[in-house]
Amino acid sequence: MLEQPPLILAIDDSQLVLTQLEFLISNQTPCKFIGFDCGYKALSSPEIHQASLILLDMNMPSIDGVEMLRKLSELNLQQPLALLSGENSLFLKNAASLASLHGLNIISCIEKPLSVSKLAELYKALCQFNKAPPSQKKDITYPSEEIINALYKHEYIAYFQPKVCSRTEKIIGVETLARWNHPQNGIVSPFYFIETLESANHTAELTKQLLKQTVEFWSINRTLLSNLQFSINISANELSDVSLPEKLERICTDASMPTSQITLELTESNIINNIRSSLDVLLRFKLKGFKLSIDDFGTGYSSMKQLNELPFDELKIDRCFVNGSAEDPSKKAIVVSTCEIAHKLGLDIVAEGVEKFEDLLLIKNLGVKSIQGFYYFKPCTQTEFLQLFQQNKEVTYSNSL
Ligand code: C2E
Ligand code: CA
Ligand code: CA
Repeated sequence: MLEQPPLILAIDDSQLVLTQLEFLISNQTPCKFIGFDCGYKALSSPEIHQASLILLDMNMPSIDGVEMLRKLSELNLQQPLALLSGENSLFLKNAASLASLHGLNIISCIEKPLSVSKLAELYKALCQFNKAPPSQKKDITYPSEEIINALYKHEYIAYFQPKVCSRTEKIIGVETLARWNHPQNGIVSPFYFIETLESANHTAELTKQLLKQTVEFWSINRTLLSNLQFSINISANELSDVSLPEKLERICTDASMPTSQITLELTESNIINNIRSSLDVLLRFKLKGFKLSIDDFGTGYSSMKQLNELPFDELKIDRCFVNGSAEDPSKKAIVVSTCEIAHKLGLDIVAEGVEKFEDLLLIKNLGVKSIQGFYYFKPCTQTEFLQLFQQNKEVTYSNSL
């Protein structure tokens, strides 16, 4: 059977732009092109569900691009989407953020006027999107019952991602990350199950199981791992259980692991939303010796005053700001000011998502001590971790940064 050419759908009130798009796109790739001069027509067309790519103009008179993003997300469209606008690049970037919050897959933002090179970039982004691993596209969904049952069948296992000292390049800590060891599909990313466990209020059990696995791993390899700091993720809903500090403390003491070697990572927005009940539990975690870290810093809206009132030891700058910070001025500004806040509040800083050498240089120059990112290590199994930890101990790095 002959393969159908991909269907590309464009929504723009200007007939001239539609003609231009059709011409430029068919020069890049053989395709079937359909143009709509009004968003409503596109939304009610059957083709919108079949398109391999949707191009959306933000400035349209009858229904504007912002409203269109909302409607597209209501249709639960997962196809790649490119935004077009005559507004400046900041506007497009903000619109892309909104689209991502709606769960849409934005692959490109194109400032008008259109050109051959801009369309070539778009084509490249489309190819990359189509090649991306399924973890970045939620193309499979698991029924919540299966996700919850897996918890009680102990199918969630701990993977470890090392954190490295920026000066010595030695491993100084580890973040425990959950993976689903699925009986048919192999290792499944948390992207497919965390949200379901959170909305069904089941992450407390996950935390207990992963902390147990971490503590046992430490206990078996105590001589080697004695000085390592282990980080565990806690979801917001778990903080409503006032006995959580005692439960986690018991898991540690049962294996004779000092609680001071465990850092609990909590996201900023989660704590701030329910500060009174959270603070009770957080303070008792501190009394029991645990370290506390603010995860995904910069994605919430906490003020300096609120942060100052919370008993944190560490702040993790989210990877969406770190990755690409050397070349993107807005990301750089956020990273720089976050480091200033952390230094003023006396918090240790972890930069997460360091993939590129240029970003590493910037982060190092800002005085960040801990680096977590694919530049050094990806999350790995216990066995892999032991191997690379041993190697990392033995190797002397040039330390030329
Ligand atoms: P997170 O807590 O922000 O964890 C860091 C995520 O960033 C991990 O993804 C890690 O693999 C990824 N990462 C680290 N460095 C890089 C990098 O250089 N490049 C890229 N592209 N990614 C990097 P992962 O393991 O897929 O976890 C995703 C999220 O799932 C976590 O984000 C956390 O919110 C949640 N999660 C994972 N395990 C648990 C858990 O045991 N409990 C809870 N409550 N949430 C968990
Ligand atoms: Ca984390
Ligand atoms: Ca993060």
